[in-house]
Parts: sequence; C-alpha cells; structure tokens
Amino acid sequence: MQIDSDDQAMLDEASALTEVFEKAPAFMAVLGGPDHVFEMANPAYYQLIGQRDIIGKPVLAALPEVAGQGYIELLDAVLHTGVPFVGTEMKVLLQESAGAAEVVRYVNFVYQARRNRQGEIVGVFAHGIDVTDLVIARRTSEEQAQQLKRQAQMFDSLLTNITDFVYAFDREGRFIYSNRPLLDLLGISLEQIVGKTFHDLPYPDDLATTLHAYIQRVVEQKQQIVDETPYTSPTGVMGYYEYIFSPVLGDDGEVALVAGSTRNITERVLQAQQKDEFLAVVSHELKTPVTSIKAYVQVLQRRLAREGNASVVTHLSKVDAQINKLTALIGDLLDVTKIKSGKLQFHESDFALDEQVAESVEEVQRTAEHHTIVFERTSNATVHGDRDRIGQVLVNLLTNAVKYSARETTVLVKTTTSGATVTVSVQDSGVGISADQAPHVFEQFYRAVNDQKGAIAGLGLGLYIAAEIIQRHSGTIWVESAEGRGSTFFFALPVVALQRASQQRIAPPAEGAHE
Ligand code: ADP
Repeated sequence: MQIDSDDQAMLDEASALTEVFEKAPAFMAVLGGPDHVFEMANPAYYQLIGQRDIIGKPVLAALPEVAGQGYIELLDAVLHTGVPFVGTEMKVLLQESAGAAEVVRYVNFVYQARRNRQGEIVGVFAHGIDVTDLVIARRTSEEQAQQLKRQAQMFDSLLTNITDFVYAFDREGRFIYSNRPLLDLLGISLEQIVGKTFHDLPYPDDLATTLHAYIQRVVEQKQQIVDETPYTSPTGVMGYYEYIFSPVLGDDGEVALVAGSTRNITERVLQAQQKDEFLAVVSHELKTPVTSIKAYVQVLQRRLAREGNASVVTHLSKVDAQINKLTALIGDLLDVTKIKSGKLQFHESDFALDEQVAESVEEVQRTAEHHTIVFERTSNATVHGDRDRIGQVLVNLLTNAVKYSARETTVLVKTTTSGATVTVSVQDSGVGISADQAPHVFEQFYRAVNDQKGAIAGLGLGLYIAAEIIQRHSGTIWVESAEGRGSTFFFALPVVALQRASQQRIAPPAEGAHE
C-alpha cells in the first residue's frame, strides 16, 4: 500500500502525540461509551491510580472507590452535554493499589468530550495534574500562619492581663510590640508605638538616651541589662520601675530582637524609703540620751574612784563598755542612713596606712583580752582618704575577726604593696563563711548562718558600711574563707606614695581619682 504525504503527516502527528501522551507529566486517560470504559491511559495516570489493570474496564469497575465521590456524575454530564468540566484542586480518594487503603489526592483536571467524525460524542478525554504536594504544602503553611496568628493573639491577651509591661524592640531600638499596660501608661495605641524609639515617645531626654543606649548594649554584648528608674507618665502618674532588657538570638546567633519587661516597684521603693527614714530618726534620737548616759557614767566613775569605791568603779566600767557597744551600733545605723541619703562625707588627707592599722589594732586589742592580734607591717604606703573612716573599716574587720573566732587564737594583720596598690589583710582562724554565703556578707543586714553564730550579736551592717567606705576610696574589698577554717578579709587601696626606710619614693599615680 502506498502511503501518501497526507497520511505520512497524520502518522507523524499521531506518533508525536503518542510520545507526548507517554511522557507527559500530566495524567491522561481516554474513556469510551456510557460506562466510561478505559481505552487508554498514560504512565502518569497509572501512577495516580496505583498501577491497576484498568484497560477495557468501566471506571466504576476499574476504580470502585470513586463511587459516590461525584466523578461519575461529572463524566456523565460531559458525555451528555459536551460541555467540558474544569476542576481545580479537587479532592479524590484513591487506592494506592487494588484493595489498598484510600489516600487523598488533589487534582487539577479537565474532562473533555470526544467526538467521532460525525461529531457525535463517543467518550471523554480526561487529563490533568496531581497537585497533592502543592496543596498540602500550601495548606500546611496556611495552617502554620493561622496557628502563629492564634498564638500571637493568645500571648497578647495573656500579656494584656498582667500588670507588668512587656514589650520588644528591633535591633535599632524601635518598638515592635508592647502589651496594653504600657500603652495605657503612655496613653497611646499599639499602632502608635510600633516603629518608634524611646526618643519619639513621651520619655524625658536623658531617660530616653539611657534606655536607647541599653538596647544598643544588649544587641552588642548579647547580655541582659537590669536597672530601675523613676518615671512620670504623660498623665502625671509618678512611679519607680524596674526593667529588664534581654537579648533574643536569631538562627545566626546574633541578637534578632530585644525583649523587655518592666515592673512597677513604687510600693517597694516607698517602703524602703520609709524604713530608711525610720532608721534615721531612731538612730538620731538614740544618740543623744546614750551620749549623756555615757557622760554621767564617767562622772560617777571619777567620783567613786576618788572615794575609793573600787568595786562599783569596776561595775561602772562594764556599764561603760556596754554603752560603747551601743554607741557603735547607733553609729552604724547613722552611717547607713547617711549612705542611703548620699550624705556620708569624708575628710581627706594623705596618711601613712601602717600607722592607722597599728592604731586600730591597738584599739581592738585593748578590749579583746582573749585574742592576740599580730600586725606584720610591711607596706610603708601612704594613701589618700579619710583616715578615721579607714580606721573604722579596720576596727570592724578586727572586731569581726575576734567575734567570729575562738578564744586564745591569733588574728594576723598584714599590709603589702603590689604596683600602685596596697592590700590590707585580716586573717582569723575562726568559724569561717561558706562559699555560697561569702559573696553576700557585704550586703546590708546580711548575717551568715554558721554553727556558733547564734550567740554572737550583730546587725549585719558593719561590712556593708566598710564596703561603701572602701569603694568611695576607689578601693576594693573582698573575703576568702572556708567554713570552719577561718576567714581572711582584704581591702586594697590606691597608693599615693611609698616611704622606704631611708628614702621616699613617689609611686606612680594611683588608678582612679579620689573624690
Ligand atoms: P555583724 O557582725 O554585725 O553581723 P557584719 O556586716 O560585720 O555584721 O558581718 C556580716 C556577716 O558576715 C556576719 O553576720 C557574719 O556572719 C559574717 N562575718 C563577718 N566577719 C566574719 C569573720 N571574720 N568570720 C566569719 N564570719 C564573718
């Protein structure tokens, strides 16, 4: 048989179409007759329906699970009307192989009527693509977005119902969130705060500058900052606030945003102020009567001594010793109130530290008859500051060393220089302080708990005052101790000069200026 060029063209076209049919990523199936019998299906279609044997079978027989899913009805409609049907992301439950469990697939497809040469509809051509992965991915991300939104709403309503302020900044210090309590204090809305820095909001300039600089510091150093400040709101609400700025790190390990929380501590601050005022008044009021009792005791002591009444004089000197303890306690209370109100004043001069140490040692030794205080004098340092106040620190450390160690033990005092610093150490072999308590002994009213302490009186103020005095002299104070094995308290001060046996040498200027 001769094949003419038209036939050849038709054959070429047919083979090209077959190739498309075989290789297309789209699924295709040719159905014929009123029962929609499968005539052809391409590999993509086989993949969709689980490689089942379908050719020559009506759809319902080949794919029984589609019954009741509406597809047969759609095929019928196309077959009868000739109007194509276009389905988008339509769900179909299909078995992965004959008899297997059904899985959900989503498909975009077209049902198109097939006609014979006479134009009569003889079947349906189905083609489309499996968009399951796409749909699932999109739905998952939509669900995630929904979930995030719900979470954000939940956090916002949780944060609205607490009294603390909770907020967040971007790396440039612009607000990205604030809960309702802060918005209420500032009298603005969330929309008004977002994108603003402290400088754009109702904050005094210096406070805005400090807060903004703190955020910058959190971003750079990746470390939390805690501080407190007084603040008066635009509506005139005055209060004290404690705030914490914390870094929130991103996947790259850098600070992605800064989270902040603020607590209103007005009540606490006012209570502390009241307590300080009370202490100030009480210690001031106690001072005068105690001073006059002391004066009367001394008068009595002198008179009775003249009259030769030795036993009463001995008793009176015990009374005097107790008055001295009371005076020291009142002195401590007064000092604390001065520290609190910034009124602790120093009378400064250059003085030989060793001499002051020797004097303090002698003073404490006088009343500590059951202890031996040994002073190893080696520093020869001249320091600058308030000699009496440094003496007060020494007396405190020496009294503690005696107080917290057993009778008949020795307290060793040393002064040593290193570079431009002189260090004084007071070492006892007493009860010691445990490692967890040692860092706290310089805090106000802190008293360590140890075995023998119950009976030892004290207010827990001496070291607090000592630390303040040393810090105000640009020095440092610390303790090395182990429970049951004694303690050594140290303080270090800048040296202004070193005096040697036969010559005087000026030391390099001390670090840190004096007040
Ligand atoms: P106080 O002695 O009045 O309690 P301080 O402020 O002087 O107050 O001391 C605080 C606390 O530190 C003391 O209560 C005590 O627990 C501890 N402490 C101070 N010095 C010594 C020491 N040399 N040995 C053991 N514990 C000490």
